[in-house]
Amino acid sequence: MEFVNLTRHTGIGSNCYWLSVRGTNIFLDAGSDPKVDGIGSTPDLRPLPPGTVDAIIITHAHQDHIGSLPVVTRQEQRCPVFMTPATAAIATIMLHNSVNVMMRQREELGLMEYPLYTHRSVDLCAQSWVHCGLRQRYNLTGERSENDDEVTFEFYNAGHILGSVGVLIRHKGKSLFYTGDVNFENQTLMTGAEFPEGGVDYLIMETTRGDSPVPVGFTRAGEEERFAKAVKEVISSGGSLTIPVFALGKSQELLAMLWKMRLRGEIGHLPIYIGGLSVKITTVYDSFAATTPRSHPELQILHEMAPYVLSGREIMTAQPRKKCIYALSSGMMTEHTLSNIFARRVLADPAQNLFFVGYSDPDSPAGKLRKARQGDDVVLDKEFPPVPLRCRVEEFSFSAHSNRDMLRNYVLLLRPSKIVLVHGDRPALDWFQLALFKELEGTEIIVPDIGAKYSLS
Ligand SMILES: [Zn+2]
Ligand SMILES: [Zn+2]
Repeated sequence: MEFVNLTRHTGIGSNCYWLSVRGTNIFLDAGSDPKVDGIGSTPDLRPLPPGTVDAIIITHAHQDHIGSLPVVTRQEQRCPVFMTPATAAIATIMLHNSVNVMMRQREELGLMEYPLYTHRSVDLCAQSWVHCGLRQRYNLTGERSENDDEVTFEFYNAGHILGSVGVLIRHKGKSLFYTGDVNFENQTLMTGAEFPEGGVDYLIMETTRGDSPVPVGFTRAGEEERFAKAVKEVISSGGSLTIPVFALGKSQELLAMLWKMRLRGEIGHLPIYIGGLSVKITTVYDSFAATTPRSHPELQILHEMAPYVLSGREIMTAQPRKKCIYALSSGMMTEHTLSNIFARRVLADPAQNLFFVGYSDPDSPAGKLRKARQGDDVVLDKEFPPVPLRCRVEEFSFSAHSNRDMLRNYVLLLRPSKIVLVHGDRPALDWFQLALFKELEGTEIIVPDIGAKYSLS
């Protein structure tokens, strides 16, 4: 087996990995880099001649794993793309939304290479998607197969977002496991990953939280209690609460957490405002509630929480109302998104509250805001004047990624002969490289250079 990292930069970007198994070419994921505009946001496919990919396997529908799929399949037209049914349902929404965003950016930012693909190319691309279930072994034509002479793959629940999987690839007695993005712990909705516990020769592993030590005494349950207490304080003071969230994953986890708080009597029926993309994705979460691994399969989020939908047009004039929660995307408060526009109205008001519940890239508007202190002028969008920070800001940690200790323990359980570290910033990769080197004698640890070929077997 040979491995090539096709992302353009080290870090969390346009995740796409080329795996060659005795002349059979497989792409693992086909993401786009949310921090880069234009063609630079897509994977660099030059190491491989067009039309030579035999299969594409998608682990989940976050943009950094599927955002370039229509670009990749344009030059791989007869290539099947394997994913779970839930990932396919979400991917359709995410990719069509990307077209809309790119069309807008073409006008607003003058990016003439946009859109990189159209609604029609998303529909064409979707024709080659093949839905695959968990814990079933398939060959690369999508048929069930136990034949070890064929290259086969098998999906394992990754516990990250709806539909997310890790993938086990097997051929002639050798096996490789790619974690995708993984969470071993239960979240409010998603149940923890169930990955293979042995028999893996080569491991490709995400390292997102390698640079984040777990605070002493931290538990998710404790964090939920702290969050509930803070929400209650906001509501009893008559204030409103803005929470930047990703439309996919974090929105649904947050709504489920608020539902649990309501069941426990900690909050009443509060008006909750969310954006249109979050509604579409929550609809998919509800439709797969009974058929995918998750807690509270009885919960139909939209029916129970009945959120109000705030459109892109309404956000331009909307003023924060009292005793309301605004759970708006994007999670990183990217310019021109609902959370960015709304937060500019909230920031300077001491009666307002802004809570962060997940990861923000340090260079994103949310990342910059999190570093600011009370009274500092904050620039959330360069096209508008800075706003002084006077509202209450709180940070909570409800990550959809495993902490580094759990990932390290997983590696120690598997003890693969080679491990490839991906999907992390340099300090995160460095931590894993050192931690695993100390504990795993005889395991080769690879931090792959971009575009370089590594022989795994
Ligand atoms: Zn993800
Ligand atoms: Zn990711």
